[in-house]
Amino acid sequence: MELLGERIILNLKSRFFDIISTEYHQLQYDAILEDMLVTIKQLMHAEEVTLYHYDERNQQLVVEASTNSEVKRNFVAIHFSYEDHQEMRLYRRPFQFHAFNHYDLLIPLRNNERIQSYLVLKKEGQLFSQLTEQVLEKLSVECGLFLQKAQKLTKLFVEEKRYKQLFRVTEKVHSTMNMKSVLGEIIDSLQAVYPTFTYFLFLSQDHKGYEGLPIKEFNYTSKNKEIMQSYVTGTIQFEVSITERKSILYAPLKGKQGVYGVLQVTSPNTLVFPKNEVEFITVLANTAGGAIENAQLYEQSKRLIADLQLINETSHHLNSNLRLTETMFYMSKQIVKSLAAEEVGFIQFSSAETQNDVQQGSTSFFFTDEAKPYIKYVKERLLKEKESLFIGDLKLSSETTQLSTYKSAMAVPMSQSNVLNGFVLVLHHDPYAFSFDTYKLFLSLIHHSTLAFTNTLLREKLEKLVVTDHLTKLYSRMYLDEQIQKSMQLDEGATFILIDIDNFKVINDTYGHQIGDEVIIQVSKIIHSNIRGTDIGARWGGEELAIYLPKVQIETGVKIAERLVQRVRESTNPTVTISCGVTCWKSEVQDNYQDLFKRADNALYLAKKTGKNKVVRQDS
Ligand code: GH3
Ligand code: MG
Ligand code: MG
Repeated sequence: MELLGERIILNLKSRFFDIISTEYHQLQYDAILEDMLVTIKQLMHAEEVTLYHYDERNQQLVVEASTNSEVKRNFVAIHFSYEDHQEMRLYRRPFQFHAFNHYDLLIPLRNNERIQSYLVLKKEGQLFSQLTEQVLEKLSVECGLFLQKAQKLTKLFVEEKRYKQLFRVTEKVHSTMNMKSVLGEIIDSLQAVYPTFTYFLFLSQDHKGYEGLPIKEFNYTSKNKEIMQSYVTGTIQFEVSITERKSILYAPLKGKQGVYGVLQVTSPNTLVFPKNEVEFITVLANTAGGAIENAQLYEQSKRLIADLQLINETSHHLNSNLRLTETMFYMSKQIVKSLAAEEVGFIQFSSAETQNDVQQGSTSFFFTDEAKPYIKYVKERLLKEKESLFIGDLKLSSETTQLSTYKSAMAVPMSQSNVLNGFVLVLHHDPYAFSFDTYKLFLSLIHHSTLAFTNTLLREKLEKLVVTDHLTKLYSRMYLDEQIQKSMQLDEGATFILIDIDNFKVINDTYGHQIGDEVIIQVSKIIHSNIRGTDIGARWGGEELAIYLPKVQIETGVKIAERLVQRVRESTNPTVTISCGVTCWKSEVQDNYQDLFKRADNALYLAKKTGKNKVVRQDS
């Protein structure tokens, strides 16, 4: 019967070779085992072949594979002592081991001399009894070797698959700043490599916008000890739940500068995670950490750039010689937009102690009585503390615990030569509406604008004191006002012309403010050279100019105005036109300065409305 045994062994070896040389299984360990058992079953004419694995740690037998699907399905691990296990060798029925007593043949399979698993067979025909001990030993050796080879191969295969996944993920991380797709890729990779595990990402940061991904919020009060431990120490943690029959691994999502969350991996049995799996999961978790860090740094730098642009743009704008009200309206608009504030107030302390001036440009709320307690409260605190305020739960006064409808407030003092002379106050109804980043932006915005702002303020104050306008060298508005009032008391009559440059915004927008200024100067020069020394050419304000002609009849005034309209149209560069409103007063008719101005303004308005580049006259 030696020949029969030889033939079986030879056959077995060649069939084993076929199993691992085919592409068919994609080298999956379970599938290889199944094929192995089927091969043995056929060659040995057996009714059932089952492979038990001996779990040394828990001293128990576990079914690894069986040709009888029922066995695997209904099997519960059997206790099998280590002493018994060490004593094992080849057995034929009857066995003294309860665990195997319905089998006919037991073949231990070794790995480096140590028994790793047991092959047990149930007989069908008479073949078993015809095989010698020698043949069965040989069978044991061949099967043991085959198992080792299969394990090595599948390990290599899994490893290869893992590294491919890892490569894909890293590639993705480096090619996109989109966190959702990076995290999605990481979860997909884990699922592809270990499909039976379940995964959750616990993120310590904002986790909105990741719909469809298994992401949970992680907060510092988390009851889960292991998550906390992993997050705080930045190390891998394990948790085994015997009752729920699962083991859980927690891997920190580590970047270069910190830990951004924890990856939870749950395995549906209580086996420990093998070392190389832990390594793989760690690498993926770190990749996720790195991706989150990168995305955050990117967001942060984008925000910083936007902040810098805002500050730059604002101070540029403020330094371009605008009128104060325009400046304030501009600032107000910028603050509301970029800080998402509801109210902005520019408060200027006035000389009277209790009095405050709400500047133009403040939102309308600040001009109501309702705003007074806020202004008072902030003023008091700023005077006392001399530092900016950042409040998220505003109560107006501590004694009365008077509640405020605006819960969030930020205030920055504005000082000039070390004297606190006002502040900017920003409000929002929601508590904690402003982030600390917003507060810092607010500070630098105001800090960079204060100088320009006080300059404008001073300039306008100065303008009131000065007789000639610095830009146009025409008389100042103050001087004109004084002279008209004097003249109306002394003279018998006069003509008044109000001039406004047409579409001047377009000039500013097209050529910039500097050219705009030059155009105002050109127009002023034309005015200057077309009036006499006793006439008063003045800068009314902005691009509005005025001429007062004492003792001049309105007909003459209209002629002068018409000549100006023509000269300006012909000789300005870039070309602009002007519109004029002309009026006069006569001592016979009861009149005053306000009415004089109003008539000129009406006439000018009419000139603008009816096509510009013209003169309109309105008599008294
Ligand atoms: P309209 O024909 O109706 O007068 O149109 P406009 O574009 O001239 O409109 P408006 O008079 O309302 O606007 C005048 C603009 O002139 C607004 C302001 O930015 C600009 N401006 C006012 N003062 C100065 C200044 O001193 N220098 C410069 N460059 N621009 C000024
Ligand atoms: Mg104009
Ligand atoms: Mg104007």
